[in-house]
Amino acid sequence: MKRARALAGKHESSITPYGYKPSEKDKFIWEIDEEAAAVVREIYKQCVNGLGPFQIATMLQERQIEIPSVHSKRRKNGGSKYSPYCWYSTTVDTILSNQVYIGDAVLNYSSKPSYKSSRQVIKPREEWIIHENSHPRIIEKGQWETVQRIRQGRHKHTKMGDMGPLAGMLYCNDCGKKLNLARTPAWKQYQYFVCGTYRRTQECTNHNIRSDYIEKLILEDLRRVVSWINTDEGSFIEKIKKEKRTETDQNVKKAKADLKKAEARFTAIDAIVKGLYEDKINGQLTAERFSKLNADYEKEQTDLQSKIAKMRLLINSDNDQRLGTERFLKIVRSYTEVPELTAEIVREFIERINVWQGQKIDGVKHQRVDIIYNYVGVIPDKQTA
Ligand SMILES: [Zn+2]
Repeated sequence: MKRARALAGKHESSITPYGYKPSEKDKFIWEIDEEAAAVVREIYKQCVNGLGPFQIATMLQERQIEIPSVHSKRRKNGGSKYSPYCWYSTTVDTILSNQVYIGDAVLNYSSKPSYKSSRQVIKPREEWIIHENSHPRIIEKGQWETVQRIRQGRHKHTKMGDMGPLAGMLYCNDCGKKLNLARTPAWKQYQYFVCGTYRRTQECTNHNIRSDYIEKLILEDLRRVVSWINTDEGSFIEKIKKEKRTETDQNVKKAKADLKKAEARFTAIDAIVKGLYEDKINGQLTAERFSKLNADYEKEQTDLQSKIAKMRLLINSDNDQRLGTERFLKIVRSYTEVPELTAEIVREFIERINVWQGQKIDGVKHQRVDIIYNYVGVIPDKQTA
């Protein structure tokens, strides 16, 4: 992709995309059309919130927001033959993918096969010419990039139909390998995840779970967590604190013992080096030998120092845990609901998912799945003591 600075913010065209309008002073300079820009921002916000283009289009229609062509006609004091509020998901998708909203002008991105044709052909990305900052931005770059990641995740899930939002997130609880996606024979068509080790070498057992089952399970759990935090954040914080306490207590106990040892060794080395120094003065140790030994001990002390620092940090991990919970809450607070499972949402919330070996009890498959959330780990039920 060629990148160039815009020439004095001038465009080659006075035809502006939705969200902009030509300046009254110079029609080749684009200004923000605040009314439409507000709609663009709303579309991006809803995408980050997890709504798909279709849902966003429906929402805009319900709120009776004018579609871009009608808005543009009205701005130019004309009428329009279109139904004014009928948003299509393709319109929303075009807005969500348009780099123009971060202030970049994209030139040379399409061509017509022939001058008679009305069909536009999108050129390969390498041929595009990008003019950065050629007009004011409506969307922050970070948000725009998030939206592109979300769109890619969705695309993978629906159109290519392969991987699904959980690909790469599931692990075998026994051998620790990732679960791979597999397909049953055509007559019994569904996708399932299976332990990578078992599949290749049979050295593990047949850990497997249907992808539609686990997707449903994960979606339900995300909704449980989001609604819990939205309705009763206090009890969530308490619960996590309590849950982590036992685990932390054990780690802290060990760290305290290790710290004592490390500190004792650190002091012992001081004494040893002092002794060596005396030996050198007394002529029992050559200067060469002394500096070699001294360097070794110095290195050991440096290593000990960093170990000691780490252990002290762990001992104060009560603090860490609070910080982790705070980070997690920050993520969750940006959601009021989880309408569907997307690769983006899964990765924002979840670190990994451990799948246990299933067991048949009275002909019914029972299977344990541990969902390890980012920063906070497994989130227990609200009710359990
Ligand atoms: Zn395994």
